[in-house]
Amino acid sequence: MQDDKYKKLIAVMICVGCICVLSVFCSLLQLQNIKHMENRMSFMENMLLAMNRIDPGDKSAEEVIRMNVDGSVQDGRIADSSDVVEVEQDIHMSGASYASEDEYEGKTKICLTFDDGPSVYTDDILDILDKYGVKATFFVNGREGYDEQYRRIVAEGHSLGMHSYTHDYSKVYADLDSFADDLYQLHTYLYELTGVDCELYRFPGGSSNNASKVDMERCIQYLNAKGIRYFDWNVSSGDASGGYKSADTIAFNVLSQIKALDADTIVVLFHDASGKSTTVEALPFIIEKIQAMDNAVLLPITDETDAIHHISVSE
Ligand SMILES: [Zn+2]
Repeated sequence: MQDDKYKKLIAVMICVGCICVLSVFCSLLQLQNIKHMENRMSFMENMLLAMNRIDPGDKSAEEVIRMNVDGSVQDGRIADSSDVVEVEQDIHMSGASYASEDEYEGKTKICLTFDDGPSVYTDDILDILDKYGVKATFFVNGREGYDEQYRRIVAEGHSLGMHSYTHDYSKVYADLDSFADDLYQLHTYLYELTGVDCELYRFPGGSSNNASKVDMERCIQYLNAKGIRYFDWNVSSGDASGGYKSADTIAFNVLSQIKALDADTIVVLFHDASGKSTTVEALPFIIEKIQAMDNAVLLPITDETDAIHHISVSE
């Protein structure tokens, strides 16, 4: 009898113990969930802050952006570009066909640009642009096996720009002759594939790159003499800098910089390249948010687009 009593007591104690351990475990799980939700809400709050035009006097909003843009915006400036200089140039440029930009007077013109393609993602990007009725700009390299994508870019009304044939800094920027040869090679390649006499260029690494052995002023003067306009960017998606970037980060980088930048013309840098699936993933959200803005319009780069230059060069 005594034994049975002890057994019952021990069984009850074990049960109570189990219940205690279980409830502590559940509480810990709940705490973790709350923390995750808090993080998510904090991200969404920051995103919402960025979605509203930032009041220059609103220090807290500016600080939020500085803290959350992965170093892309620092002290209100774009980190990976030096002085952004807008230079008006009136040089004829072939490319996409669209209505005159006069009808967009007073609106911020936002140009989405994709470097380094074509790639396995070009068709996905083109499908998304088509779905939202957006024309963009592709700064392409010379790549075998993508004839259809080069032609599709042109056929669907996007602007086609050059981004060097090889994208190999040691070759493109070895000397001015190499730069000119590479330019000629890509220009001919694109002309034969698409019929476009391409007069639009983006330097690999931008005009402010530190990799060139040629003085970039000489490259710019060479392009000027050929009637080719070059474009840098004043908003960077950050999709090619550092390691993996989530679609959330890319969208936040782009939208927060657009909101923080007081410019009539905004050129956004993306990459159309292998491994950049999160760029494709972020694109619909970015387009939807821009299309919901009253004061902005998405346009391809044309001969009417104000130049965005990282360095200014005398003619
Ligand atoms: Zn590039």
